[in-house]
Amino acid sequence: MDYIEIPYIEGDGAGEDIWHASREVLEESVLKACDGAKKLVWIPLLAGQKAFDRAGNLLPEETVETVKHHKVAIKGPLTTPIGGGFRSVNVHLRQALDLYVCLRPVRYFPGLPSPLKRPEQVDLIICRENTEDLYKGIEWKEGSNEAFALLTFLKEKMGVALADDAGLGVKPISRTGTARFTRWVIEYAIKNRRRSITVVHKGNIMKYTEGAFREWSYEVAREFEEYVSFESEEGKISFNDRIADNMFMQVILKPQDYDILLCPNLNGDYLSDACAGLIGGLGVAPGANIGDNAAIFEPTHGSAPMYAGKDLSNPTSFLLSGAMMFRHMGLDRAGQRLESAIEDTISRKIVTYDLARQMDGVTPVKCSVFAEEIKKRLAQGTDT
Ligand code: NAD
Repeated sequence: MDYIEIPYIEGDGAGEDIWHASREVLEESVLKACDGAKKLVWIPLLAGQKAFDRAGNLLPEETVETVKHHKVAIKGPLTTPIGGGFRSVNVHLRQALDLYVCLRPVRYFPGLPSPLKRPEQVDLIICRENTEDLYKGIEWKEGSNEAFALLTFLKEKMGVALADDAGLGVKPISRTGTARFTRWVIEYAIKNRRRSITVVHKGNIMKYTEGAFREWSYEVAREFEEYVSFESEEGKISFNDRIADNMFMQVILKPQDYDILLCPNLNGDYLSDACAGLIGGLGVAPGANIGDNAAIFEPTHGSAPMYAGKDLSNPTSFLLSGAMMFRHMGLDRAGQRLESAIEDTISRKIVTYDLARQMDGVTPVKCSVFAEEIKKRLAQGTDT
């Protein structure tokens, strides 16, 4: 028996229900796919409020070091207070490990409810730059000494007219950060035989941040001219761009025209939830945060506090994140089996409340029951 150690962060709120329902499903996926030769061993890690309560630190060094050592981890959502309190531990973790790519596939499969007439046309991958932009967390509160000092500098030295009672934030987007991210995404597109990459920016308004993001990503794309085309050349990956507001309309009206969306941090965050809405919602939207030395797999959704402890949430996004992790680790068969078992379960209209409420005449099952159903199918499962 080969033991595979995987660090995990349980997460807050509904994340706890999801973790408890999903743990055995993930174990079973590997055990079955490897004919009993490999077994997962979980290493619990602390982060967020729980870490603060138990260890006096929102992101203990041990958590970061353990992920670095194992190069991989799976994580539930962590709560971040709005408007005050501590900064996002999710963002901090991505920055501490330099996980500069956030990969969020949004793919329809039969049985999922959708507001679209032809949801089968949705097969998008949102690639979100994960370390820069407004998420850098450089901001100052209205009325603070720092805000006052910066306002004074901007007014006196830069000639900018600003309200005295403004809060201020800084939006850094660098050439280096954009280039390494774009390079990673193009290489991913080549390896996975994707057909197009669309840069999603607001460069008409934010010329030196989002406009520069567009320009620098084209610069990198030109290095790949053997594989990438700017004129929709047959057999090459089409590289184009759209202004962000237009992109939100495009994914609803013509999702079939889009494939990989290459986004700065904030645009990617917004688009991820919007696109998840095309295929049933956040309950089925997985994700990965990837760097050169480590990767953390986590659902797109947050801790959905309203549903915490009620055994109601959908564990699909967490499980699909697990399937992405298995593929990343070379356990492709486990990933594929898990995805097939999920798709089979949903196609039989065995779904949690978030999907059931969008479907006619379907009674929802609990989070734990849904997970049991998947486990059953894993036991029967065959490779496709
Ligand atoms: P959320 O994603 O937690 O929930 C939004 C809505 O989506 C919920 O009300 C629910 O209807 C639905 N939903 C989400 N996950 C679901 C699931 N698994 N099953 C069924 N329905 C689901 O977003 P929010 O309410 O804006 O944020 C709550 C907290 O989560 C905040 O503190 C926020 O900062 C945090 N957050 C964390 C992460 C992360 O850990 N990566 C990501 C986003 C938000």
